[in-house]
Amino acid sequence: MSLNKAPKNYVFYRNQNWIYPRIERGEGIYLIGEDGKRYIDGCSGSAVANIGHGNKEVAEFAKQHIERIAFTHLSRWTVDSIEKCAERIVNWCPEGLNHVYFVSGGSEATETAIKMARQYFVERDGHKTSKWKVISKWNSYHGATMGSLSMTGSIGRRKIYDPFLANFPKINQFYHYRNPWGAKTLEETSLLAAEELEKEILRHGPENIAAFISEPVVGSAAPGVHPDKIYFQRVREICDKYDVIFIMDEVMSGSGRTGKRMASEHFEAKPDILVVAKGLSSGYTPIGAAVCNDEIFNTIMVEGSGHFIHGHTYAGNPLSCGIADKVMEIIERENYIENCAIQGDYLVGRLEDLYNYPVVGDIRGKGLMIGIEFVKDQETKEPFQVSENVKGKITVNGLEEGLVVYPGGGSVDGVRGDHILLAPPINITKEEVDLLFDKLEKAIKKTTEEVLGQKVY
Ligand code: PMP
Repeated sequence: MSLNKAPKNYVFYRNQNWIYPRIERGEGIYLIGEDGKRYIDGCSGSAVANIGHGNKEVAEFAKQHIERIAFTHLSRWTVDSIEKCAERIVNWCPEGLNHVYFVSGGSEATETAIKMARQYFVERDGHKTSKWKVISKWNSYHGATMGSLSMTGSIGRRKIYDPFLANFPKINQFYHYRNPWGAKTLEETSLLAAEELEKEILRHGPENIAAFISEPVVGSAAPGVHPDKIYFQRVREICDKYDVIFIMDEVMSGSGRTGKRMASEHFEAKPDILVVAKGLSSGYTPIGAAVCNDEIFNTIMVEGSGHFIHGHTYAGNPLSCGIADKVMEIIERENYIENCAIQGDYLVGRLEDLYNYPVVGDIRGKGLMIGIEFVKDQETKEPFQVSENVKGKITVNGLEEGLVVYPGGGSVDGVRGDHILLAPPINITKEEVDLLFDKLEKAIKKTTEEVLGQKVY
């Protein structure tokens, strides 16, 4: 294959096995290599570049903003763009989430959410409160820093850092395709998965549980997996019953990615804190946010100490906030969320054909956040060994075709399993979806032939 090797290892990420070419620029849904080859960004980086690359309106806005003001520290100053951005995020969130705490990315956002939950209980009940544990799920991803990794349920990402991690309880994911209960319907899986939350809270004692965190549509750990909306109804009831804060991790699923402003809308979910990052600024600058309800805000900031003991230098960076607000303005004006829903349905319709390839096990998702899981045997759902690297082969074959897909970071059980995430920019056109599909099908056909050692027609 004609892809460049990195000449030097100055950038820690790149080693001698690096397969990706150096990128010269981006244009709409395309990344363009220094060799001129055009790649459809079929995963928007990692579901980040929601409005595509090289947006001139954002570029012009950024230039003007930098010339006016680039940085102020949130502990002292505010700037119009910070306030406008916060207001727009609140408008995009489920009702009742009214207070935005800015950070620089997803891991910082989930860490912020659990510190908010902990400080809420300390301010409300005093320092003697024993509420600190956060329940999360296997086959989940909430970030790479120690607090967020403590919540992350992707085994491969946790293993070697185990000694650093907080001992947070984990329950099963609403992973219908591989549900451990033998449930026949998504609704049944969702109910059984929610009941695990109640059991786990009781096992540890509600007095020790501060929060429960969930992605509405799973990202890298099991791309596209989502529950029936009954799951979040039950979660809300259980969290209310045991005085537990419900955190929704919309780092990947938020910002229009699933065909709604936030994926919580699909499920009529009502979290106490929602975290968002990635597509919020479409990748033009780093940003994330934790958005909380009045109860948490008032307890800490109005009736309590008035000081959330947390903060990062780049929290509420005026430029990042301005760009995120501009990106959301463009998405609203151009109806990109509606487009995302339409093109997502269209793409899923086309993907159904891929079940003709014996390695395609499951296709699932919402909007343009779609996962494909690969299996050795469609009937038994037997996964490939991770060492067989099927998702890696799809990635390489995709690149050859001029398509970038995201190889899922997780696996079925830490040892076996392959999935990829499809998440092209949400302003993709129908013609571009067709092109993406054709390239993906070729990559899957070639991979099928490689792993099965036989021609596929
Ligand atoms: N939560 C979810 C659901 C994510 O998908 C990610 C990133 N893949 C994170 C948190 C962490 O975000 P970041 O990489 O920006 O720290």
